[in-house]
Amino acid sequence: MSEALKPCPFCGAKPHTGLSKVLYDQIHGEPFQNTIIKCPHLCASMQGSDDTVRNRWNDRHTRADLTESRLRQVAEAVWEESVLVAMNAHRGSVGQGDGATVIAGTAHDAAKAIRNIDIDAIVRKVMEG
Ligand SMILES: [Zn+2]
Repeated sequence: MSEALKPCPFCGAKPHTGLSKVLYDQIHGEPFQNTIIKCPHLCASMQGSDDTVRNRWNDRHTRADLTESRLRQVAEAVWEESVLVAMNAHRGSVGQGDGATVIAGTAHDAAKAIRNIDIDAIVRKVMEG
């Protein structure tokens, strides 16, 4: 009994399965049919020998999940870093000039600091996890 197929990694629909047209083994000329798995909305399709293609379809879904959770971790790390540099920029500008100048300077320094965040370093840190 084969493992159940996971939903389409792009839209979540239940995939359809079917058989390819008859193909012939290149060495012995034996006829065979591949299993075809495809999303009913045409997001993705795969074909191959039954076990292989079922494993590939389900493995692909697993990797899509991993990528999404990694992306979420990167987004959260960037957000945390942004808050930190904005707070540091704010601390640095306290006490300079009158109220309006301080606020304008704070916003400007925070924007500059956030623009200088090293995204590559954050991605490396998350991937080393
Ligand atoms: Zn789909």
